[in-house]
Amino acid sequence: MLNLILFGPPGSGKGTQAAKLVDKYKLLHISTGDLFRYEIGHKTELGMKAQQYISKGELVPDEITIGMLKNKVEANLDANGFIFDGFPRTIAQAKALEDYLHSRSLEVDALLALHVHDEEIVKRILKRGETSGRPDDLDESIIRNRIEVYKSETSPIYDYFDKKGKAYKVDGIGTIDEIFDRLCKQIDSIHI
Ligand code: ADP
Repeated sequence: MLNLILFGPPGSGKGTQAAKLVDKYKLLHISTGDLFRYEIGHKTELGMKAQQYISKGELVPDEITIGMLKNKVEANLDANGFIFDGFPRTIAQAKALEDYLHSRSLEVDALLALHVHDEEIVKRILKRGETSGRPDDLDESIIRNRIEVYKSETSPIYDYFDKKGKAYKVDGIGTIDEIFDRLCKQIDSIHI
C-alpha cells in the first residue's frame, strides 16, 4: 500500500493533481471537501452540520470529520493505497489518521506539500468560483479566512510529518503537467 497526504493551502491544486496521481499510481482519492459536498448535496444530517462551518470558511469539527474519513477508508481497505486530500487539516486529525492506519498495520508514507503564495491562491479560487458552484469560492473575505485557518490550524502538520522524515515540499506554480512531474519524482524517490 502507498498512502499519501496531498497537502497545501486551499486552491493549491490538490484536487487537480490527485486526479492525475490516482490514474498513474492506482490509488483511491479521498477528499474530505468532496465528501462534505456530497453530504450537503444529499441534505444529510452530517451535511447540514458541515455546511454551517464550510459556508464561513471555518473547519468542520474534528469529531465529525474524523468519523467520516474513517468510514470511507474502512469501506475501501482493498485499495492499493490512498491519497488523502484536504485531510488531515488539524494536528488532532493527523494523529487520528496515524492511529487508525496503525490499527490496520498501515501508515502514512509521505506528505507532499504544494507551495503556492497567498495572492495566487485568492486569484485561483475566485476564478474557480466562476464555475465551481461552490459558495465558499465566491467571497474574497471567506477565501482569506480559509487561508488564515490554513496557516494557524493546518500548516503545523507539515512540521509534524517533517520530524518523522516524511514531508516533502513541491513548487505548486507552473503548468499542471510540470507540477505533476515534480510530484511524481518525489513519489518515485520514496516509493519502496
Ligand atoms: P479547499 O482545499 O479549496 O479549501 P476543500 O474541498 O478541501 O477545499 O474543503 C472545503 C471546505 O470543507 C473547507 O474550507 C472546510 O470548511 C471543510 N473541510 C474539508 N476538509 C476538512 C477537514 N479535514 N477538517 C475540517 N474541515 C474540512
